[in-house]
Amino acid sequence: MEYTPERQRLLVQGAVQGVGFRPFIYRLAAEIGIRGWVSNSAQGVLIEAEAARPQLDTFLAQIEAQKPPHSSIQRIVVEPIPAMGTMDNPTFEIRESSSAGSRSTIILPDLGTCPDCLREIFDPADRRHRYPFTNCTHCGPRYSIIERLPYDRPNTTMHSFIMCDLCQTEYQDPLDRRFHAQPTACPTCGPQLSLWDVAGREIAVRHDALVRAAAAIRQGKVVALKGMGGFQLLVDARNPQAVLQLRERKHRPHKPFAVMIATIAQVKAVCEVSVMEEQLLTSSEAPIVLLQRRDRDLLCADIAPRNPNLGVMLPYTPLHHLLMAELGFPVVATSGNLSGEPICIDEHEALRRLNGIADVFLVHDRPIARPVDDSVVRVMAGTECVLRRARGYAPLPIELSDPLPVIIASGAHLKNTVAMSIGRQVFVSQHIGDLETPEAVATFQDGLKDLQGLYEQPAEVIACDLHPDYRSTHLARELAEGFQKPLIQVQHHYAHVLACMAEHQLDAPVLGVAWDGTGYGTDGTIWGGEFLNIHESSFERCTHLRPFRLISGEHAIREPRRIALGLLFELYGIQLPDISRLGFSLSELDLLKAAFTKRINAPLTSSIGRLFDAVAALLGLRQQVSFEGQAAMELEFVCEGITTDRSYHPNMVGNILNWGPMIEGILADLAVGVDHAEIAAAFHNTLVEMIVRVAVQQQVEQIVLSGGCFQNKRLLEGSITRLQKAGFRPFWSQKIPSNDGGIALGQIVAAQREYVWRSKCV
Ligand code: ZN
Ligand code: ZN
Ligand code: FE
Repeated sequence: MEYTPERQRLLVQGAVQGVGFRPFIYRLAAEIGIRGWVSNSAQGVLIEAEAARPQLDTFLAQIEAQKPPHSSIQRIVVEPIPAMGTMDNPTFEIRESSSAGSRSTIILPDLGTCPDCLREIFDPADRRHRYPFTNCTHCGPRYSIIERLPYDRPNTTMHSFIMCDLCQTEYQDPLDRRFHAQPTACPTCGPQLSLWDVAGREIAVRHDALVRAAAAIRQGKVVALKGMGGFQLLVDARNPQAVLQLRERKHRPHKPFAVMIATIAQVKAVCEVSVMEEQLLTSSEAPIVLLQRRDRDLLCADIAPRNPNLGVMLPYTPLHHLLMAELGFPVVATSGNLSGEPICIDEHEALRRLNGIADVFLVHDRPIARPVDDSVVRVMAGTECVLRRARGYAPLPIELSDPLPVIIASGAHLKNTVAMSIGRQVFVSQHIGDLETPEAVATFQDGLKDLQGLYEQPAEVIACDLHPDYRSTHLARELAEGFQKPLIQVQHHYAHVLACMAEHQLDAPVLGVAWDGTGYGTDGTIWGGEFLNIHESSFERCTHLRPFRLISGEHAIREPRRIALGLLFELYGIQLPDISRLGFSLSELDLLKAAFTKRINAPLTSSIGRLFDAVAALLGLRQQVSFEGQAAMELEFVCEGITTDRSYHPNMVGNILNWGPMIEGILADLAVGVDHAEIAAAFHNTLVEMIVRVAVQQQVEQIVLSGGCFQNKRLLEGSITRLQKAGFRPFWSQKIPSNDGGIALGQIVAAQREYVWRSKCV
């Protein structure tokens, strides 16, 4: 049977740029005998294909079946167009990109070094031997070098490097692994390393710079390394003085550091590694994975004090691979910043901001377009849960079930991210940080500009938190006024629940359990132990934790014993039982009693995060903290490995969860010397029972567990198991952090619900 040639225009959308998609199409077309062309456009990969119908059908099927690794196809729009016959090129070609039209294409995250590139950098015969900026279409920087779309070299920070003849040949050869690999480079034409002293004077260049940086680490010095998405600070992980020195200089006394270990075999000597954890470590996302330590003596204790876990990553750029090979031992690899600030991306800025922290600077001349920190994941309930979403993950979108108007969300105050919706996709930025320093606020503003600049879509609505004083609220208001668009303020815990619903594409009704440290409530008090019934377009706070006063307000957060005191005041008034364990002096106590009775700086809170702090203080685990969640983490760790069914009385008064009987139970246990681990385990069990109690009362099948408290593995896994046993369907945050890093996504969904509802009312 004879077929007349037909012609189709195919638009392939998804993560299809920067992954070798066009060469793949080129090879496939040649194989099947298709004429036409392929090109990148701002909307995705555009193909015109001409052949007989059966070939076209095979072509379409094979695109989906054989797509390159790291690509993902969201949809292929096929449109029949008139055949061109012999008027067209008799072969298939790759055409210049067109940058016209609206931006909707997906930007790929940075990818860890692929096995082929790894082999080249360690092969003395290869022209890229020891070259730290080797990459190809399967690996290397993407998001951290893109300045605008479409993803072509002139639109990246590589634009000033002119390719040598050899690189140019590879770049133009459709059969080469580096065909249109935008950041491709070699020792002749690409970026170079150099080692700077604290004054910015060049000490060494190229491989010599790397060797001398390794020597500095070996001598116990702090090396600032310009990596893929920003600076890291490196020290010898076996050297306690070096680790302690880094802690002092960074003003970071306790918060755990991550370590980089050269190979998976070496990781297994230090930590327990499950199959899933190994997959995550060796993936091209290459995140920091929180692992359980096997041998606590192998690396020095101060890396993660009083912590049974260790954040571990493998080398993910050629630079890291070469450095780790040169060293032969694990290093602490922590963000190049002062605690809480965004990471530095520019070497001159690093000299200033890391002055007094780093001893030498291993830098290079490939500019970084935006800070992209190392991501952090933890396997919980058998699933990958992203706790800090940046390198390897951002800015891949979360796909929703229905299209949204263009909404920009400014996120929360801590662990800030920003987000933008286009169609059915929500692009959530990389982790930005706590908006408490001018540097963080500047990065936040860059993040908002980035969303608008990259995707070039005018926002119809701006969303932000309900808190009147957050910087993110103020700046969102300015943005809304500038655009003359509506500003929708979203309650924090509602946003937590909606973020998790969005990730799982859940529809109402849902019972949302939003447990965290702090969020501004609709009644002006500090919420954080909330049960929200989620309806079609709104929510109702059906149950919450019994409120208590935070004596000294924000200051109490750094001193858990003050939180414990507030709890005891609420329970007993000022006639307290024996609280000598909290270590207050009599005069301190008098002041705090006065603050409580006169309600001076003593706001009400229903926060579960603060309840954790209070119980940790009562157990004497920690009276002062240096980072958010520290006391709660120690309460989780103290009962690690303890299995007990014991719980305190989960008491409810009306729709209020009453912690009173539980605290009395804990005090009674402490008085008779019950083991702290036992008490901490029973405390976790009580919280789980509280969740099940409310679920049974509300009779909603879908339960969403969201908020920073669910980064606690014991609490999360316990809740999931008990809810499932009781016939409910629990959902928890996986792709997007359950902490405030997920708030921007939730704000977008809330704004959409409100916007749709408003337009229905008009
Ligand atoms: Zn590669
Ligand atoms: Zn070259
Ligand atoms: Fe929160």
